[in-house]
Amino acid sequence: MNEVVDLLIFSGISSGSESLAGFVKPWRSIGPSKIANRLRQAGYRVQIINFATLFSYEDLRQLSDRFIGDQTIIGISTTFLSNNTLTLSSLSQAVAFYKSKFSCKVLLGGPSPGLFSKVFSADFLIAGYAENKILELLNSVNNRMIVKKINPSWEINSCSHRWHESDHVQPGETLPLEIGRGCIFKCSYCKFEMTGKKKGEYVRDLSLIKDEIIFNYEKYKTTNYMIMDDTFNDDFTKIENWCRMVDELPFKIQYAAYCRADLLHRYQDLARELSRTGLRGAVLGIESMNSKAALSIGKSWSATKGKEFLPELIHNIFDKKSITQLNFIIGLPGDTEKNIWDWLFWCKDNEIPVAVAQPLSIRPPKLFPTDSVYSDFDKHAEDVYGYRFPYAGRPHMWESDDITWMAAQKLYKKTTDYITNNFCDFTWSSFASLSLGFELEDIKGTSSKNFYSNSLYTNATEAWINAYKSSILS
Ligand code: SF4
Repeated sequence: MNEVVDLLIFSGISSGSESLAGFVKPWRSIGPSKIANRLRQAGYRVQIINFATLFSYEDLRQLSDRFIGDQTIIGISTTFLSNNTLTLSSLSQAVAFYKSKFSCKVLLGGPSPGLFSKVFSADFLIAGYAENKILELLNSVNNRMIVKKINPSWEINSCSHRWHESDHVQPGETLPLEIGRGCIFKCSYCKFEMTGKKKGEYVRDLSLIKDEIIFNYEKYKTTNYMIMDDTFNDDFTKIENWCRMVDELPFKIQYAAYCRADLLHRYQDLARELSRTGLRGAVLGIESMNSKAALSIGKSWSATKGKEFLPELIHNIFDKKSITQLNFIIGLPGDTEKNIWDWLFWCKDNEIPVAVAQPLSIRPPKLFPTDSVYSDFDKHAEDVYGYRFPYAGRPHMWESDDITWMAAQKLYKKTTDYITNNFCDFTWSSFASLSLGFELEDIKGTSSKNFYSNSLYTNATEAWINAYKSSILS
């Protein structure tokens, strides 16, 4: 049987921190599946190799060889990749092999695919949401003798997503579930598309979401979800309707989502409703608890109310049932290394399940002209926010009066070591671990370093990945 496809997509997760390189996660992303469905509707043949960063070069060859021929384009989803040579080496080696043997063209997708151009010797880049760009690209690369029905423009509101047979979703697997795109806010450092939208814009029809949840339950027994929505609780009515819909399901679900802490504070009854309907993982972008920095990014709530409300939210409103994660940024205006450590120690003292501090990324348009989206920070890094870019050959290495990019990276490594020893696993990864049969209570009760080094976890991961591999090879 000829199984050669027009587009073979590699999708996987890799960590930017050396401290997290060994923390492997069987975590499936939804973007490639949406792209694949869009192309299949137009007559193209598409296969996805998920969890690609968890496989050796030999595994990747074994999984992919039969799908690749002279005309195959290799796609790589870079959304959850980091430029970490350790975790990308097998994948880049496999891509280089196919490029040299078949002269395959390489297409990179994701929010900033340009970051990976050199690693994969890319021929094409599609930055950002690609459902309305991918057909044009495949049609233009090679006008094959296949029927290419050009569909009307794709819209998130009417998306009735289904996982394809060839995705080999495993029984009981935690799945991403897309609710909406964009956000009603417009934080100055945010690089997401569709920020500043109106309430209700770019949100899926709730009946389609409900159908997808029921379908997934009947077909895969899935009850755990990673909610894909830049800010899940940005609209009171949306969340009321969501809770009503979850109540109507004939089974219970658990879900994790990005939420705005200030809105959970303002609508505390709704926060209780979210918890009651299964919110067991809230990822909160606190960013800074210092008033100057918080004001500069439009999140002054974090500095004025954060310390008072977050313990109340986690221990009382969420009743200690949720793996709530606080995100901080290293390098905002006025923030120092000491501030970052103070917040992490505060989190530890207040039994916050997990926190993370990541370096600020600034990519000004004049230094990064091929990026597709720029934040206000990117656009006004020097004139408004006081950053400097002193290294012509290394434009990402910003400096401010308070901290440098290099110091932020070193701090990231140190804080990650502290975090993995003192907090449980990150929210999204914890939900990925539910696929392996773990319970959130198991994960909450142990540091992530102990959790990942435990043979129960490593054996379960290996068995799970082997099951996925066998499904593709069968
Ligand atoms: S940082 Fe979060 S809240 Fe702010 S605009 Fe981006 S998605 Fe919205």
